[in-house]
Amino acid sequence: MKKEEFTFKQIELQEKRVFRDAIHNYIHVDDHVILQLINSAVMQRLKRIKQLGGTHQVYQSAEHSRFTHSLGVYAIVRKMIKESEIGHYLSEYDQLTVMIAGLLHDIGHGPFSHCFENIFGINHEKYTVKIIKEDKEIHSILENCVEGLSDDVCAIIDKTHPHQILIQMISSQLDSDRMDYLLRDSYFTGTTYGQFDMSRILRVMQVRNGKIVYKKSGVQAIENYILARYHMYWQVYYHPATRSYEQIMMSLFQRAKDLYCQGYDLGDIRYLIPFFENKVKISDYLKLDENICFYYFRLFSENADMILSDLAKRFLNRKLFVYEDYISQEQKMKIEQQCFNHHYDPRYYVFIDDQMQIPYLHYGKSEDIREIEIIMNDYLVPLSEVSEIVGAIIQSNHNKNDPKIYYPSL
Ligand code: ZN
Repeated sequence: MKKEEFTFKQIELQEKRVFRDAIHNYIHVDDHVILQLINSAVMQRLKRIKQLGGTHQVYQSAEHSRFTHSLGVYAIVRKMIKESEIGHYLSEYDQLTVMIAGLLHDIGHGPFSHCFENIFGINHEKYTVKIIKEDKEIHSILENCVEGLSDDVCAIIDKTHPHQILIQMISSQLDSDRMDYLLRDSYFTGTTYGQFDMSRILRVMQVRNGKIVYKKSGVQAIENYILARYHMYWQVYYHPATRSYEQIMMSLFQRAKDLYCQGYDLGDIRYLIPFFENKVKISDYLKLDENICFYYFRLFSENADMILSDLAKRFLNRKLFVYEDYISQEQKMKIEQQCFNHHYDPRYYVFIDDQMQIPYLHYGKSEDIREIEIIMNDYLVPLSEVSEIVGAIIQSNHNKNDPKIYYPSL
C-alpha cells in the first residue's frame, strides 16, 4: 500500500484486542500491524529485559519489563491522538507511524540497559533504528503494511522527521516515553514521587505553529510532572545501592572480557563473544537478554579465576560494595591501597560513579533546546518564564551532582 492511500479501515482488526495493564488499565489495539509488532520476537524479547536494571535490588517490586513500558508508551501516544487536540492535526498515516514509533522506541535496549551500554560502547537508540531497518520480521511487517513505513518510523525515533509534532510526542521534555516511565516506575517501586496528573496534561495540549504547546491552565500539572521526574531521579534511578549493584556487574563483565582477551577459557560463552570481540551484528544483539546473562553469571561464579567468581557471587547474592562521597584523589588512593592490602585488585574493586540530573532544560542552556511552551494571550511563552517554580529551579542551578566512591567492605 502507498502512504497516500492509507486509511485505518484497511488494517482494522476484525476483533479488537485489549491488553490489561497496571497503569493504563485497558490498552486498546485496533490495528492488525500493531498486533503483529507486539507479537514479534523483537518485542517479546523485551519481556526478558527489566525496565529498571538493578533498581529491584533496592525497591524489590520493581521487576517490570521494557515490554510493559513499550506498550504503555504506545497507549499514551494513542491517547494523545484520540483524547487531545493533536489528532486533528495528523493524517491517518502519521497517526499510525507515531503509534508504531512509541511501541518500538526501546527495542534497541540490551540487558541491564545503561550499564551494558557503558561497558560495550552501545547506544540503544542507534540499535533501535538498526533493528527496524535490518530485522527481517519487523522490517517486513512494516513494509508489507505501507511502503516506506520503516523509514518514517526510524525518522521519528532518530528525530529527523520533518513533522515536529511526531518527534515531540515520542522524545521531548514532555513526551509519552517519560510520562509512562514515571507513572510505571513509581507504581512498581511503590513510591509516590513519580505520580502526576497525566489526563490533565493531555487535556491542555494544543497545536500552534506546527508544534505541541500547552494552555496556561495546565501549568500546575506540568510543574508537578517536572518535580515528579526530578524526585524520581534522586530517590529511585540514582539510588546509591542500585549504583553499587550495577558497578559490580560492569566490573564482572570487564573481568570476563579481559580474561577472554588474554585467551583464558571461560567455557561456552558463545552469546557473549561478539561483544568481547566488538563485532556485534543485529542477530547477535537480539539473542542476548538478561536470562542468558544470569546463566553466564552462574557459570562465572564457579570459575577458577578468583576475581571473576567473587564478582559473580557478589552480583548473584547481592553482596554490594560499600560507598562514601567522593572527595579527592588522595581519598581514592588511600582506599585503593587498603583494598590492595586485602588482596582486592583495585582495577575491579574500586570505582567512582558520578550522576547528574538536569530537571528542566531551558533556552539559556543551548541554542537547540526546545522548551515546553505555554499559550499566553495568543503568544507562546517558554515554561521557564511562566512558572515561578520552574524558574526557581533554573535560577538555583539545581543540577545536583552526586560523586560516590565504591569498594568492598574491608
Ligand atoms: Zn522508553
